Amino acid sequence: MLGPIVILGVFVADTAYRAARQPRLGETVMGDSFALGPGGKGSNQAVAAAKAGGKVHFLSRLARDAFGDLALRTWSEAGVTPEVAFSEQGYTGAAYIFLEAGTGNNAIIVSPGVAGDISEEDIDARADLIRRASVFVTQLEQPLPAAIRGLQLAKEAGVVTILNPAPAAPLPDGMLALCDWVTPNESEAEALTGLLVHDPITAEAAGRMLILMGAGGAVVTLGAQGAVLVPGDGAALHLPAIHVGPVVETTGAGDAFNGGFAVALSEGRSPADAVRFGIATAGISVTRPGTAPAMPMRAEIEALLS
Ligand code: ATP
Repeated sequence: MLGPIVILGVFVADTAYRAARQPRLGETVMGDSFALGPGGKGSNQAVAAAKAGGKVHFLSRLARDAFGDLALRTWSEAGVTPEVAFSEQGYTGAAYIFLEAGTGNNAIIVSPGVAGDISEEDIDARADLIRRASVFVTQLEQPLPAAIRGLQLAKEAGVVTILNPAPAAPLPDGMLALCDWVTPNESEAEALTGLLVHDPITAEAAGRMLILMGAGGAVVTLGAQGAVLVPGDGAALHLPAIHVGPVVETTGAGDAFNGGFAVALSEGRSPADAVRFGIATAGISVTRPGTAPAMPMRAEIEALLS
């Protein structure tokens, strides 16, 4: 039987306010709309992977409060198994998202709350689960030592490891060597390599550099241009995005991609097929509002790829 997909990461409640402009210090501005929804890169990736057909366990930390309840409800509806430590003090994280009416530009403040306390001990408490996973995925929203510990345990056990290096942050020496796959977007690839990344050629160069820096392979995502797969052994491949319909919201496209990519790898598909599966997952998600609710079901992804 296939091992589960284990994803380590952060949940935050996204609180999105739309208004003509941001308030200045000391000022109050009336908004046009408000929405509360589940967010956090790791949680979004777990929801995407579960809806795409994966057996997903999500490692995180919550407080016992209303946003913690929202996290548990979100995972239960998507079929994600929570592997959560609870903090008795503190709060479940939240993100303030300002959306500028008219342009759709945003400005964001993330307060990770108790997810900022995810520790190496939290990871060790789930070591057996990580060791019997087929794929282990993490990002950079929780403290680095926890991410490194998870990658180490997985790598030692021969589990396929994926690091989505988001949000961009400098990585300690040796961390990329724990990653079978690293999946940056353009700006994260630039931050990690120092190279400008804006098209398939420059994405391939960045992918090669990430492999020189220790990664097993790289997938650099390029928004509407799709993604470039750079395997550790062999030629790079540019896979175009799949345009399903009018684009409604691209927030979470990277999370949809990573969730789909992880599911396909866990099923033993080739890296190129796994990137295609991730691109189809993301291509559908951008045609719908929201992040977790926008993630497509397995049947929709298969219909698009058939
Ligand atoms: P975000 O931070 O908005 O969640 P990201 O910057 O991490 O996303 P992108 O590179 O923008 O990630 O997108 C990931 C994948 O989603 C792309 O490789 C592509 O397949 C798909 N995608 C993104 N934007 C579009 C689009 N406008 N149309 C179709 N597919 C898209």
